[in-house]
Order: sequence, then structure tokens, then C-alpha cells
Amino acid sequence: MFERRKTRQLFVGKVPVGGDAPITVQSMTITKTADVEGTLQQIYALAAAGCDIVRCTCNEEAAAIGLAQIVPRSPIPIIADIHHQYRMALAAMEAGVHGLRLNPGNIRRPEHIKAVAAEARDRKIPIRIGVNGGSLDPALYEKWGGIKPEAMVESAMQELRYFQEVDFDLVKISVKASSVALMIEAYRQLSEVTDIPLHLGVTEAGPPPAGLIKATAGIATLLMEGIGDTIRYSLTADPVEEARAGRQLLESLGLRERKNIDLIACPSCGRAEIDVIDVAKRAMEAFGDRKIPLQVAVMGCVVNGPGEAREADIGIAAGNKRGHLFVKGRNVAVVPEDEMVDALVEWAEFIHEHGTEAAIARVDTAKAEREAAKDRAALLDDKGADVNNANEKIVEIRKTVEH
Ligand code: SF4
Repeated sequence: MFERRKTRQLFVGKVPVGGDAPITVQSMTITKTADVEGTLQQIYALAAAGCDIVRCTCNEEAAAIGLAQIVPRSPIPIIADIHHQYRMALAAMEAGVHGLRLNPGNIRRPEHIKAVAAEARDRKIPIRIGVNGGSLDPALYEKWGGIKPEAMVESAMQELRYFQEVDFDLVKISVKASSVALMIEAYRQLSEVTDIPLHLGVTEAGPPPAGLIKATAGIATLLMEGIGDTIRYSLTADPVEEARAGRQLLESLGLRERKNIDLIACPSCGRAEIDVIDVAKRAMEAFGDRKIPLQVAVMGCVVNGPGEAREADIGIAAGNKRGHLFVKGRNVAVVPEDEMVDALVEWAEFIHEHGTEAAIARVDTAKAEREAAKDRAALLDDKGADVNNANEKIVEIRKTVEH
């Protein structure tokens, strides 16, 4: 849908980044890296939620030792996050990590940067130059009069020159900032001057929902301009939320194939027969991270629900204390209200396994349609077609305005 800017390709472990590779989702563990079992548990949860590459901090010797044990057991490639101590980068490589992230703002001595790059070159380990607005090199801050997109791009280019001096080119770059406008502009400028794969993110976006909105605004804007090869949501939340958000963003933009359900739900209104928010939430929990790539609808009433969500693979609409299941807009079954969510999951699993036709063939759709028509009529009878008494209100409004 969006024409992607051409970038070079590299591999983080077995995962390609850049070129025509699918855009990947990254996240970061929040456990102590020295806690091998705890970190691995989180990595498995992240991978199940759609994370392709994970980053762990390598801030001390115990963390590097932990990485040596985590790497061989991890289901996805591991990147070591390095700040201040270049020796930790060397230790992480010794531990077998698949990639490094260096912050040029806090590892500044050229000989240290080059020592890491030379080692990475020999081991064929990619490095991300991770510029961060908040930890920009003070000299560049001074030169550009603050955290400016130009300063961030220059920081990345400066680091790149050190890498080039030792013939190292397995590089990704990020220029993150907590300001959405600033990061967008920095990435735009960067994409003009290099074909190196770019890692997108809004740093310190904060807790959801504000954090989700900020990160989505920044990342989605750039992706739609064809900029970006790998993404990370930096949320103040369980990192699994980051992985889910990243995955959902890519799926909703059509940049990755759907892996889990796409739950659509009506916003509810006066006509709703159930607590739509609660049922949608319970449905979301019931599906969890199950690999069922279907669109599932939760609709508040049988009057409009099946029609409005007719494109959904499977849906449920409430009416007269009953749940009306519909498949591609066709009524297929009626279940008691408290069994709606279970029925939704069971039907979704069946469709995923056997297909829509087989699902429809196993029931009497005419009977389900008759039941739905009955409840629809009862609802209309009860609440009327004009559920908000709009016609009466319009008469009153006209009278008020005329006087
Ligand atoms: S599906 Fe029914 S309850 Fe939901 S918003 Fe539409 S009319 Fe209202």
C-alpha cells in the first residue's frame, strides 16, 4: 500500500531488517538481565505477542554473563543495549548477542567506538546507532542551539564515520525523541541522506493510552511515507503491550500479515442490549495471543450489528437476552447471553481450522435467521426505530428556534 524507501538489508540473527524484508517489531525486557529465567520468561511472552527482535540491557558484568545463557535459549534474536561503557559492548559480543545498540551521546571517545565496531565487523554483528534526543552529545546541543533534528542526524552521521574508518557497515540508525514532531522531522532528514535501515520509535512515550497515541502518531506517519524498517513502541507498561501495539500497527496498515484476531466492536449506543465494553474486553482476553487471524465482531444489538459488521469473519450481536452469532453477515446460531464469548471463540477456532463454508454448513442458518428476525422485531417494538426519540426532539427544537 505504501511505497517503501529502498534501504540496505542486514540480518539480526536470522531476522532480516531493511530492503524488502517485512517491517519487524522490537521490544525490550524490563527484568534484570542477570536474572536469566525471569528474562527468558519475558522474552517468550514477547515473542508470543508478536515481537521479532528483543533488546536486553547489558549494563554490568552480571548482565553480560546472563546474556551468555539467555542467547542460546531465546526464540528470537537478542540485541544488547549499551550505554556509557564500551567494554559492555565487547562483553555482550563475547556472550553471543545478535546485535548491539550504542548510544553515541554517551559513548563518545572515537577509539572506544572504533574498537567496538572493529570487533562487530569481525564477528558480523550489526550495530544500531541509537541517537536519543534526551542524551544528545552536549557539543551538538551547543552547536545547533538545542535538541534539533539536524543535531540528531549529525550525531548519527558522526558515529557512522567512525564505523566507516574501520570498514564496518552492518548498521541501523534511530533518531528517537519524546517529541513526536521532532522525531518525525529527524527521521525525514535522515532518510534523505542515507539508505541505512531505520529503527523507528518515540522515546519515553509514557503510559497508555497517551503513550500509545504518541508512538502511533510518530511511527505510523513515517511508515506511511515509506520510512522505517523496524519499530519499537517505548511504553511505560508491560513490554508485552509494546509488542502487541507494534504488531497491531503493522497489521492495521497492511504491512504485516495478520497473526491474531482483529477485534472490531461497535461503540455501543442506547440500543445496546449488552455491556459492549465488557463483552469486547472479555472476548479480547479469551482470544489472548491465539494465532487465529480472523476479524471478529462484538455488536451491541441484533438490529444493526450483523449488517454493520457483515465483513467480519465471525461476530456476535445481542438481542432479547440472547447472543446471535453471524458468519460473514449470515446468522448461524443463537446462544444464551452468558455463553456469547465462549461461542465466539469456539466458532472462530472452527472457521480457522475448517473454513467459512464448513462452518455455515454445520448449522441451520434459516432457523438462526428466523430467531434473529424475531429478536430484531422485539427490539424494534420495545425501543422503536427511533431509539433516541429523535423525531419528538426535532419537533421541540423547531418550536424553540421559531420562538
Ligand atoms: S450495533 Fe446496535 S448497539 Fe451497537 S452502536 Fe450500532 S445500533 Fe448501537
